[in-house]
Amino acid sequence: MKQETKCLHSGYVPKNGEPRQMPIYQSTTFKYDSSDAMGRLFDLEDSGYFYTRLQNPSNDMTAAKIADLEGGVAAMLTSSGQAANFFALFNICETGSHIVASSAIYGGTYNLLGVTMKKMGIDVTFVDQNLPEEELAKAFRPNTRAMFGETITNPTVSVLDIEKFARLAHSYGVPLIVDNTFATPVNCQPIKWGADIVTHSTTKYMDGHGVSVGGAIVDSGNFDWLKYADKYPGLTTPDDSYHGIVYAEKFGKLGYITKATSQLMRDLGSIQSPQNAFYVMNGLESLHVRMERHCKNALEIARFLKANDKVAWVDYPDLEDDKYHALAEKYLPNGSCGVLSFAVKGGRDCAVKFMDSLRLCDIETHVADAKTCILHPASHTHRQMTDEQLIEAGVAPDLIRLSVGLENVDDLIADISQALDKI
Ligand SMILES: *Cc1c(COP(=O)(O)O)cnc(C)c1O
Repeated sequence: MKQETKCLHSGYVPKNGEPRQMPIYQSTTFKYDSSDAMGRLFDLEDSGYFYTRLQNPSNDMTAAKIADLEGGVAAMLTSSGQAANFFALFNICETGSHIVASSAIYGGTYNLLGVTMKKMGIDVTFVDQNLPEEELAKAFRPNTRAMFGETITNPTVSVLDIEKFARLAHSYGVPLIVDNTFATPVNCQPIKWGADIVTHSTTKYMDGHGVSVGGAIVDSGNFDWLKYADKYPGLTTPDDSYHGIVYAEKFGKLGYITKATSQLMRDLGSIQSPQNAFYVMNGLESLHVRMERHCKNALEIARFLKANDKVAWVDYPDLEDDKYHALAEKYLPNGSCGVLSFAVKGGRDCAVKFMDSLRLCDIETHVADAKTCILHPASHTHRQMTDEQLIEAGVAPDLIRLSVGLENVDDLIADISQALDKI
């Protein structure tokens, strides 16, 4: 099936007489006829459901659709995108591990790695993702366990050279994890370019209608954990909490997601609610149609802004003269996403005046949604970062993030135009 068809038909296939839409398994627990039948589930001898803190059928069907769209072998849903990135890393890292990550990643992930995971004894080196391979190589250490980046960074909309990152990660015997939230599998499938694990905030385009917070992790099944057994003891040595199971041996290509489910989800309990899995499932059905329109609208608005003399600069990878256009043509040939960043001339005060004058575009801590929304990261999402950190992350203090929705583009341009006139 092509991506468009997978959006509609993958993950849940009803049998004769069953509901056409995926049912919501709104149940904490599952009933068994014998003690032994349930016992075998706890031994991971049989697969099945016993408690929704670990697994739920609705979640698994939505995850299966996402895995199929990304070209992975298995996926799991998490309660948020933050939980997805944390689980994706913590599944293969422990105290004493080190991660190499792009410094341009989403502010929430930057904090997760730079502050919270540091407290757990997991160190991170942030790198400028545009540096040549020889320079990036200097960030690797003997205890490096993963490399991390975003296909299109939030909010600077920089396009990652996925092949370059994958080559480097693999030459140091570690997997590449790519957060594909902005591109979605409709516009880019990082696994095709060498990524080993893909993460998502399903809160964004996948849900698409601003109703549910959630995340997803997809495993390609391509990384050979056993080849680097000494680096990944969690996958390659017996798990005492599961009667000595060795995940990479017993489950092969499914080992990574099985461990994340049966160990991390069991102990940390960050599962997506089945109700939210249903919203994501519905959102995914129209993802391909929405992404096309998001990109079309964003490109028109980027061109409008670029031609306006009150605008200082515009970053949008689909613009022919954008510094990431060549990478976008390679990795995102059908369009990047609906998010662009720009600045108005005159600095912070003018940015605030512009934002406060908008009538149709909402000021929101949200992005990648059906309705157009706008945010000033330095005053909102990134306000915990110092100016130095902002600049290191490539977020100019005057940057405005515009997430272009599905409205008629003429209405959006009229609104932006009248707000620019107020400056
Ligand atoms: C929003 C976002 C996250 C965090 O996701 P939540 O669902 O808000 O927890 C992670 N990565 C990217 C790229 C995001 O845009």
